Amino acid sequence: MMSFTISMIRRVFAAEITMILCVCVAASCAAQTQATAAGFGPGNPFYRASTLPFQAPPFDKIKDSDYQPAIDAGMAQQLKEVDAIANDPAPPTFENTVVALERTGQLLDRAYEAFNCVTAANLDPELEKAQAYEAPRLAAEADAIHLNARLFARIKTIHDKRASLHLDPESLRLVEYDYQQFVKAGANLSDADKEKLKKLNQEDATLENDFMSKLQAATEAGAYLTTDASSLAGLGQSQLEAAAEAAKAHKDQGWRLPLQNTTQQPDLAELTNRATRQAIFLNSWNRAERGDANDTRSTIARIAQLRAEKGALLGYPNYAAWNLTDQMAKTPEAAIQFMDALVPASTANAASEAKDIQALIDAQHGGFTLKPWDWEFYSEQVRKAKYDLNESEEKPYFELNNVLQNGVFYAAHELYGLTFKERHDIPVWQPDVRVFEVYDADGKPLSLWYCDYFKRDNKNGGAWMDVLVNQSKLLKQLPVVYNVANFEKPAPGQPALLTFDDVTTMFHEFGHALHGMFADTEYPSLSGTQVPRDFVEFPSQFNEHWATYPAVLAHYAHNYKTGEPMPAGLVEKIKKSQTFDEGYSLTEILAAAELDMQWHVLPQSAPLQNPDTFEVDALKKKNLWIEYLPPRYRSSYFLHIWNQGYQAGYYAYLWSEMLDDNAFQWFEDHGGMTRANGDRFRQMILSRGNTEDLQKMYDAWLGATPNIEPMLKFRGLKGN
Ligand SMILES: [Zn+2]
Repeated sequence: MMSFTISMIRRVFAAEITMILCVCVAASCAAQTQATAAGFGPGNPFYRASTLPFQAPPFDKIKDSDYQPAIDAGMAQQLKEVDAIANDPAPPTFENTVVALERTGQLLDRAYEAFNCVTAANLDPELEKAQAYEAPRLAAEADAIHLNARLFARIKTIHDKRASLHLDPESLRLVEYDYQQFVKAGANLSDADKEKLKKLNQEDATLENDFMSKLQAATEAGAYLTTDASSLAGLGQSQLEAAAEAAKAHKDQGWRLPLQNTTQQPDLAELTNRATRQAIFLNSWNRAERGDANDTRSTIARIAQLRAEKGALLGYPNYAAWNLTDQMAKTPEAAIQFMDALVPASTANAASEAKDIQALIDAQHGGFTLKPWDWEFYSEQVRKAKYDLNESEEKPYFELNNVLQNGVFYAAHELYGLTFKERHDIPVWQPDVRVFEVYDADGKPLSLWYCDYFKRDNKNGGAWMDVLVNQSKLLKQLPVVYNVANFEKPAPGQPALLTFDDVTTMFHEFGHALHGMFADTEYPSLSGTQVPRDFVEFPSQFNEHWATYPAVLAHYAHNYKTGEPMPAGLVEKIKKSQTFDEGYSLTEILAAAELDMQWHVLPQSAPLQNPDTFEVDALKKKNLWIEYLPPRYRSSYFLHIWNQGYQAGYYAYLWSEMLDDNAFQWFEDHGGMTRANGDRFRQMILSRGNTEDLQKMYDAWLGATPNIEPMLKFRGLKGN
């Protein structure tokens, strides 16, 4: 039922765009929906379930103008279906309430999944308009269901007596899941408290938007401007041209280097002029703390306070405790304990990397102490000296189709017995998109998989996986999943040559795809990748490990012209460069994640915080206040947590990493890439979606509780 809130799964840190779920609680939106459902009829391609194989969307028949009426009609239909369940005169049963809910919203899902795909991967002005129109309506739909008191009363009745219903484990999990989602949304509150919650949500939403607009303006204003070419020494020709273009677009003289959203700026790796590096870094660091109209500090202090109130209203000691109830970690304490354990090894390694850099500065007679704006510049030199790896050397070994067939598909064949056949008869949303039918080891069709790999102007940045059809035995649906990326499109007739980073992205997204394809659950709400944020990146990051697994790498890394395998020296360089500078990169993420959590464990009784002192104190308390190593995001420009729904959730990236590294270590300890290992992993993890308590599911598979050791090992941080 709630699959229209499926969040897009994006490659960690690659994409900074997250689907924004508005918290607008507008009953009028839902009412309007019913009115606009008119005009939807059999002529609309979403009117009936698709008759294509796997119920694939008929993209050849769908026009831009078909989405909005279908989504509106789908929402109206789902509300009607939900009302019928809520007002059923029969006493509530598992079948007539919980299962019935799972059957609602099928038209909405059908239309929304396709809409979601094209708006992210192939946007145009008409779709953009429809997207702006539908976003608040979809949020209101979710609220209308979650705050339906009659419906909740039925679910609560079933939940209260669930132990006596003799349900199978998946059904029992569904009852608990539904109950938890309703309670989390406030269904258990008195009417007066529901009103309070609504007000808190509205103020939070308004301030989140304020934060976003201030930050956008602040980031734009933080661009580095110069008319002095010598200050940009070190940048390549194409970077200079882009900077000149950016200046022109803003009617500025000279060159303009726009700010990226992270603290560190990529150009710092190349700029030889130290004063320029310092100026750019400080522009970034202070972007939202200038005391002007774009200063975000008072906004974030108030958001943190509102969230603390919300946590208390919903019955928890703080916001994080409420927000983590449906995550694998379950409590902020578990997440904090995990992060704290990483700090010593992480910072010790960063300190040793800093020593190497200082030695290089001294050897070059720099005459200064390492500062944050020097890090990228000198670590790039250390990296070149140690590994001397450049793109033109590696790319000929990573031709896209070869990587796909002999790398990504090959690993899935060796581990799970899958085979793939390209289909040219399934309609796609854009001519570059390819479709494969996926067959199980016994030859049975398992899934359809689409890939849309090449960069386009009308595509979101980064890479992601999502579904067009969600697997469910109840609804008799097999999974239809897709991967999107932004690889350089070659000129016509030329091969698409990838960097190793691109190759890793392919394996990563395909890991999500496998999680979707192997889904084998009864209920759509618990299927496939619909798992908590701190679990969802585990199968994808796990799949990345196979990219450098010797038997896999040897199978795909061949020169596209000569067919020669990659020389051993180059393989070694690629592997070593993967663990370069990991002390720094883990520490900057940890610092951001700890900051996030500390903002969200503030109790309701805490006074309005001063973000300056709060941030310094928070980092000092965790031994993460390090002069040369700033957090990846400072509180005042931490978009993930103030606007994009990652609040009290930034730790999830690292948590998932712990899971995937423990998993890969298990494979290594049990004979590596074998069908037996793959099948066991599929059966106990990849096919199970959210049908069990995730900690129990994971521990049962591993035969232990995961710990941080494999993570330190694969990041190359052991022994410090
Ligand atoms: Zn991912």
